[in-house]
Amino acid sequence: MQNAPFNLAQCIEHAGKYYSHQKVITRKVEDDSIHEITYHEILRRVRQLANALKKLGVQQGDRIGTIALNTYRHLEAWYAISGQGAVCHTINPRLSAGQMDYIINHAEDRFICIDPIFWPLIEAMHPKFGKVEGYIVLTDAAHMPTTKHDVALYCYEELIKGESDQFEWPVFDENAGSSLCYTSGTTGNPKGVMYTHKSNLLHSYAAGLPDGFGIRSLDTLLVVVPLFHANSWGISYLGPMVGANLIFPGKLMDGEAIFELVDKYQATTAAGVPTVWTNLLDFAKQKGRKLDSLRDVVVGGSAAPPWMFDAFEQKHDAQLLHAWGMTETSPLGTINRAIPQLKDLPQEEQAKIRLKQGRPVFGIDLKIVDEEGNELPHNGEAVGHLLVRGNWVVHTYYGSDAPAVNKDGWFDTGDMASIDRFGYMEIVDRSKDLIKSGGEWISSVEMENTAMGHPDVLMAAAIALKHKKWGERPLLVVVPKEGKNPDKESIKTHLGTEFAKWQIPDEVVFVEEIPMTATGKFSKLTLRKQFEGFYEE
Ligand code: ADP
Repeated sequence: MQNAPFNLAQCIEHAGKYYSHQKVITRKVEDDSIHEITYHEILRRVRQLANALKKLGVQQGDRIGTIALNTYRHLEAWYAISGQGAVCHTINPRLSAGQMDYIINHAEDRFICIDPIFWPLIEAMHPKFGKVEGYIVLTDAAHMPTTKHDVALYCYEELIKGESDQFEWPVFDENAGSSLCYTSGTTGNPKGVMYTHKSNLLHSYAAGLPDGFGIRSLDTLLVVVPLFHANSWGISYLGPMVGANLIFPGKLMDGEAIFELVDKYQATTAAGVPTVWTNLLDFAKQKGRKLDSLRDVVVGGSAAPPWMFDAFEQKHDAQLLHAWGMTETSPLGTINRAIPQLKDLPQEEQAKIRLKQGRPVFGIDLKIVDEEGNELPHNGEAVGHLLVRGNWVVHTYYGSDAPAVNKDGWFDTGDMASIDRFGYMEIVDRSKDLIKSGGEWISSVEMENTAMGHPDVLMAAAIALKHKKWGERPLLVVVPKEGKNPDKESIKTHLGTEFAKWQIPDEVVFVEEIPMTATGKFSKLTLRKQFEGFYEE
């Protein structure tokens, strides 16, 4: 057989040649107007940028950062960087200054592609970025910022203008790094995961299978999950591979803006974290509108509450597909699609299984183990540390000497989970978020899901706080729905339908918003700090 090494540029070459009329639709970050471009044109521009980067002296293996939202220019930069053998280091613009400083220096980025809206933020930090030689601002001449620093600022459109739209992609080892993503480092410094051309392509093949994301050229995909969040869950490789239209929402993430994109471009599939869907469903409900083109909504990153599954199914005829993964797993590990055996189960049992995080996709293996590392049964009851293994799971963090896996190649996810007899995995909690009261465990995820089933609760986060008598006790932090004013007792009574008396939080506090991490999850670390000592006084 022929043996051509994988290169991610093949995705965009394929789309440009064989799905040339399919489109990438972007809400531009400069003015929120909507921009459309075909894959044919994108491919031309990717090759132009590849030529321009080469002229700037970019070499194979160099790290090139991106600090950008989901736009066609960011996508073009991705392919031009990785395709020529450099490493596309996606940086979350919402990281703290300290984390940004750490990862840009750790990765030793030579250039950074940046959205103009983030320039003021980054300009202030620039003196700390020792190795950065210049910034490529992802915009046109009319929107170019200036700088007081002695550093090169290149305008993206000016840089590619006049470059050839032909480029010979180099041939190199498919195990070479293609992209780099740091975990958000809720504990300690962020850790870098270096994906390879091979791992990303295998991941996208698996993610695209019918019982995975199940995407084809007839689909229009709303990519809310950021390009910097574990490579937008692989969707921005998969979309061009199968020729699906892509919709990039730019900076507007509110329910109204997302609704407009789905409706106008008849999105069939969408992917993002639960908070985005909370806002979208809330907007649709308020306006009495239906998301009639949507078939599948992939949700992951944190647990989706049960009401969300019903809302999509009953009000919008769409299926919410629960998926689980992490930066370290590229990220897709499991996804929830029904297998034939479920048909024989009673409806209530099927409904419960639908809420779980799902079964491993081809190429991923899972197991749960106890504290001593003994494997636990797949009976849906036993809860243990979730271990994962596969071709797109981290082996060693970037720049580290020690492997991140055990001697048999298993990576410990830090999640606590059960696996049922059908192979459906359910995350009970992150091990560090579990609440241990009087020696017994309470799942914060389960508590949040139940609380968010209360008719007046928009969002709820449960955290463990130190307690003199019980070691830890749960505190529930609640954001009420607009115009609603639930009282503590009604929330506690509601929790009583699922939880034993001793598990119910002693206190419920109401807030206007819950602090989020850079990837749009409840920041329990911030909440724990905010309420430190609450039960100890
Ligand atoms: P971070 O949250 O640290 O930025 P990741 O985005 O890689 O890093 O998060 C991975 C973690 O997110 C998983 O280990 C798991 O705890 C959580 N997670 C991901 N998907 C789900 C899901 N569907 N349900 C519950 N938790 C999830």
